[in-house]
Parts: sequence; C-alpha cells; structure tokens
Amino acid sequence: MTEKSTVPTPAGSVAIVAAHPDDEVLGCGGTAARLAAEGRAVHVLLMADGEGARTGRAAAGVAREKVAARGAAARRAGAILGCASVELLTFPDNRMDAVELLEVAQAVEAFVDRHRPSLVLTHHCGDLNVDHRIVHEAVSVACRPQPGHCVRELLFFEVPSSTEWRPRDAAAPFAPNWFVEISGTLQKKLDALDAYATELREFPHPRSPAAVRALAQWRGASAGFTAAEAFVLGRKLLPEAG
Ligand SMILES: [Zn+2]
Repeated sequence: MTEKSTVPTPAGSVAIVAAHPDDEVLGCGGTAARLAAEGRAVHVLLMADGEGARTGRAAAGVAREKVAARGAAARRAGAILGCASVELLTFPDNRMDAVELLEVAQAVEAFVDRHRPSLVLTHHCGDLNVDHRIVHEAVSVACRPQPGHCVRELLFFEVPSSTEWRPRDAAAPFAPNWFVEISGTLQKKLDALDAYATELREFPHPRSPAAVRALAQWRGASAGFTAAEAFVLGRKLLPEAG
C-alpha cells in the first residue's frame, strides 16, 4: 500500500499522521500540496480505518467494502495533493483508547523510521474525537527529541467538527500560532476532499466544501493571507548549521 519516493528532497521529508481517512485533507491538505509542489516528499499515515464503529460486526462484509473504498479514496486524495505515499493502518475506529498507547506509538515510530521526516503534522491535543487525541499522544511520544532524531518540527492541525468542540477546560484550546498560505493549493485541497465524497456534508455543516473554503479564508484573513491553514507549533528544534 506504500509507494516510496526516491526523489531527493530539499529540506527533508514531511510526515502527516492522522487518525481517519479525510482528516489529513481537512487538517493540512493545502499545506501538503504546497510542500509537495516545493519538492518535499510528503508521506501520509492514516491510523484507523474510519468505518469500524459505524457499521459494527453484523455488517462486517459491508464494513470491509467501505474500508476498501475509503482506502481507495485516501490514495486518490494523496495523488491529488502530490503526496509521495499514503499508508493505512487498521486500528479500531473511534476506539483507539482501547489500544495500548505504546502500540500506537510504535506504529508511528516505525513510519518515522522509514521516512525520516524533518516535519511532522498531526492532530491537536484538544479534539473531541478520542482517536485524534490518542494519535496526538502517540506522535508526541514517537517524535520526542533524542540525539540524532530526524524530527525537527512538530505542527498540530485543526479538524472541523472536532477541534472546536472539546469542552472548555478539558484541554488547551486550539490557539493557532503558525499559518501557511494556501491560496495556490486551496483548490487541490477541495479536489482531494471531493475524493472522499461520501464524507462530505451540505453547508452549513463544518465538513461541507463551502465551510472548508470559508475556514481557509478566515485563517488566511487572520494572518493577512488570501487563504491559509492554521496550526499550533508543538516544537521547533534548530540544530547547528551544517
Ligand atoms: Zn478524524
């Protein structure tokens, strides 16, 4: 399922670690497309299949078909954004808290070891969705600084309908301090979202294309750009030059 890029990259490769297929597009699709266009190899890891909790055991056959369809959608979306690879794991959807954090972190570590990213993008700690929070924790563990570790920069993205709805005081609110101008790649983000057509909703749902565009415009306006994606900087390490 993984297609590895052999293209040398100017500033290290990039890893996106998201819980469910479509989170990667909603959270940082425009940024991924921009970084890919700038020559960086962008690798995507999707941890849960995005279907298990909805369909249940009784409809296992239907669930398998839906998982396969979402896998195909994830690869189509990745191709639209110019990602070098898209990998899907099968952690239980909306039940990742039932898995040992160590097991999730080890899966992320293996991915990081394979691709050696300098930049990692993942979920914010304060999301309503439990899988998002687990993935945030696992990435934080897997990317903790150690001598010689490849990851220099950690960014946390927002996912509409989850990041904004964690109860107040349950976790730090999403207060972005890192903005990436995406006016050149917003259409690619919307096209990639279209690959997940079954996940999209009608406006005014926050996952509707119109709301996704409006958020990009608002995040852009916050930073003086036409369109942007917003992040919280988790960590930035600046090693010695050379
Ligand atoms: Zn999600």
